[in-house]
Amino acid sequence: MASIALVLTVCFLGFFVPAPSLASSSNDTDFLRCISTSVPSQLVQAPNSPSFKQLLVSSIRNAKFVAPATASPPLCIVTPTNASHVQAAVRCGRRHGVRVRVRSGGHDYEGLSYRSVYPNSEAFAVIDLAKLHAVRVDPRKATAWVDSGAALGELYYHVATAAPGLGFPAGVCSTVGVGGILSGGGMGLMMRNRGGGGGNFGIVLSWKVRLVPVPPTVTFFKLAKTMDQGAVNAVTKWQTLAPALPDDLSVRVIVENRRANFEALYLGRCNAVVPTMRSRFPELGVTHADCKEMSWLQFTAYIYFGDTTINRSMTTLGPFIKNKSDYVQKALTNETWEKIFLWPNDAASGQLVLEPHGGRMGHIAANDTPFPHRSSVLYNIQYVEHWNGKGPGGDPTPTPNWIGSLYDFMAPFVSKNPRAAYVNYRDLDIGMNTVVGGVTSYESGKVWGERYFGPANFRRLAEVKRKVDAGDYFRNEQSVPPLPSN
Ligand SMILES: Cc1cc2nc3c(=O)[nH]c(=O)nc-3n(C[C@H](O)[C@H](O)[C@H](O)COP(=O)(O)OP(=O)(O)OC[C@H]3O[C@@H](n4cnc5c(N)ncnc54)[C@H](O)[C@@H]3O)c2cc1C
Repeated sequence: MASIALVLTVCFLGFFVPAPSLASSSNDTDFLRCISTSVPSQLVQAPNSPSFKQLLVSSIRNAKFVAPATASPPLCIVTPTNASHVQAAVRCGRRHGVRVRVRSGGHDYEGLSYRSVYPNSEAFAVIDLAKLHAVRVDPRKATAWVDSGAALGELYYHVATAAPGLGFPAGVCSTVGVGGILSGGGMGLMMRNRGGGGGNFGIVLSWKVRLVPVPPTVTFFKLAKTMDQGAVNAVTKWQTLAPALPDDLSVRVIVENRRANFEALYLGRCNAVVPTMRSRFPELGVTHADCKEMSWLQFTAYIYFGDTTINRSMTTLGPFIKNKSDYVQKALTNETWEKIFLWPNDAASGQLVLEPHGGRMGHIAANDTPFPHRSSVLYNIQYVEHWNGKGPGGDPTPTPNWIGSLYDFMAPFVSKNPRAAYVNYRDLDIGMNTVVGGVTSYESGKVWGERYFGPANFRRLAEVKRKVDAGDYFRNEQSVPPLPSN
């Protein structure tokens, strides 16, 4: 999880403006008029603007959401260039009863930063923070301020160039937005060396993050094993081995097409990690030839793009995707893994990404931050299914069934009561808020919220929500509801 990220600038302005009941067409018109008088016109795009659709789709990563997002578009997209524009948009929204959704990198797995899933949903506007992406590094204090609209790769780049010897542990994917990933966690290969947290109560414009030492050279290696080469045994062993490895060595696994792809980051040189791997995990057969030594910055690009060059044009729309997640506390047997490897998957392509916990993840108590998945966890599973959006006759098709059937099969083997999930791998199948009396019902929120945060942390988050946004202005299908007063 991302290094303790201090939320310093939260735009709660507008809380004190009485909000009328939401969603009527006169509210919409008044809202747009308010926006047009308080935000420069070149920073506001309405659906009739020629570049509106391009802007709406610009940071959508999941092809599944392009059609629904463009069919029910926001009233407008505001692209602020400073905090006052964000404040003005929120004030207009609250004054005229129009909700805003905030988008940083647009990678939300359910697209909640730019689309509404509620049937007959009320009108909303999008505040897209892509233009607010500055990174200011203070090498002396080993901290950086990063604006929410920056991509992780921009943060990594500025840290590495302004403060050689320092790094920041967050996600594997450099295109993810800082605003979303730091709100919820940051699963990556340096998290076993650090800790993290999450929340969603307003609009965070900028984050102060604590940087961590990284050596001049790190080592990455990647090895694939087929079932014939012992993939099932190797994954079975990996489950308890990987969380117990030294904190500066992380080995994750991607299971796909009946293969296990082991990917590792060591914060040091090849010469030091090969003997460790050979003694702890001889089944992998790691040799010096498997090592790729590089700088930490090069690694952040290489792990995701397979290339050490950094190129923003690589951020393109992906295929149709569905994701789910689980936490494993007790190792699965060899027989269970064999069934998983052989799980039928005709229509689409499915992956399991297994991220080891342990290390410093377990040194932080489950209730120190909202992210509770700590010492009791061996690893996280991310299920990923992608397909081309077409059924047998070329018609649009819903999610093929690999992911749902495998997730059902996994129930006895993963965490229970509640079956936990990672908030940044958002999954609306596990529950969606309902609104009662104009406010999100706490009971409906518990259904999904206790799975992301644990029962105690979820209740504390709802207490905070009651303090800072009792009227529930900032809400979506999976936002924390205010705790009822009685
Ligand atoms: C291709 C891909 C790779 C990924 N890789 C990783 C990974 O390696 N590790 C990992 O942990 N996760 C990963 N994720 C998941 C990712 O962390 C989450 O989807 C994250 O929430 C995305 O952040 P974003 O800013 O890009 O998304 P957005 O869609 O912009 O936002 C996500 C959510 O956060 C809210 N939000 C956004 N900005 C703000 C803000 N400034 N203030 C308040 N709320 C805000 C949005 O309203 C929305 O609800 C990946 C996702 C994708 C699609």
